[in-house]
Amino acid sequence: MIKDLLVSFKDNIKTKTTNPFFGTLIAVWIIHNYKFVYTIFNFRASTGLDDRLTFIGTYLESDKFLPNLFWCIGYAILALVATYLLLNFSRLIVYTFNKKVTPRVNKITDSKSIVTIDVYDDQVAETKKFEMRYEEEQDAKLNLQNKYDALEKKYQDQLRLKEAREDFREPIDKEQTELRENLLENQLINKSVEDPSFKSYFVNKNAQSNGDHEVHKSGCAFKPNSESIIYLGDFLNCQDAMKSAKKHYSRVNGCYYCSNACHTS
Ligand SMILES: [Zn+2]
Repeated sequence: MIKDLLVSFKDNIKTKTTNPFFGTLIAVWIIHNYKFVYTIFNFRASTGLDDRLTFIGTYLESDKFLPNLFWCIGYAILALVATYLLLNFSRLIVYTFNKKVTPRVNKITDSKSIVTIDVYDDQVAETKKFEMRYEEEQDAKLNLQNKYDALEKKYQDQLRLKEAREDFREPIDKEQTELRENLLENQLINKSVEDPSFKSYFVNKNAQSNGDHEVHKSGCAFKPNSESIIYLGDFLNCQDAMKSAKKHYSRVNGCYYCSNACHTS
């Protein structure tokens, strides 16, 4: 409670002394009553408490205290007015020099750095134009950049797709090749060994009584023994075998029993 009161009192004093009027008033009062102020801080050690109180009471309770205070208030107001007038006057001096005197001096000493207001305005307009153009260019650049980014993304996607497709295709191609090779191999085996439509044909070295050399199929009961025949090859039909036999003998004929289709006489 007491602490709160003290804090409030301290704040009050602080506000009063920092207020321009009260600050000035306090200063005027202290100067005007310097003897009283000086004395209360410098009593002789021999002066007793009663004497001190009497001295202070005589001053504060006398009829002169209030007129004295009003005099101080009047002086404080005058001092304040004078202070503000002086402040404004000094500001006037500073501004006058900054705005009027210094430019003139500059114009005299460095004429190139000073231009007329028309030239300045033209320059400002030109600068503004450039700024607008710069902004437009920036926008255009941003647009292009966005488009480029989108295209780049599309390209990367396509590239990934292509790679995926190639990864996928490689094993298929390999398998296809293997399958084709297997198929070819199987066809060859079928043709020469397993295909029952192919038969081995032979031609008789010894001609018949009419001059014909007879062509027989393997397994024919009338096929002569191995020393008397020439192996012609494996054929699908007797016609092919006859063509081969003609390379050995001009007169050939199919056997009546095993190659009847090629038997003529
Ligand atoms: Zn035969």
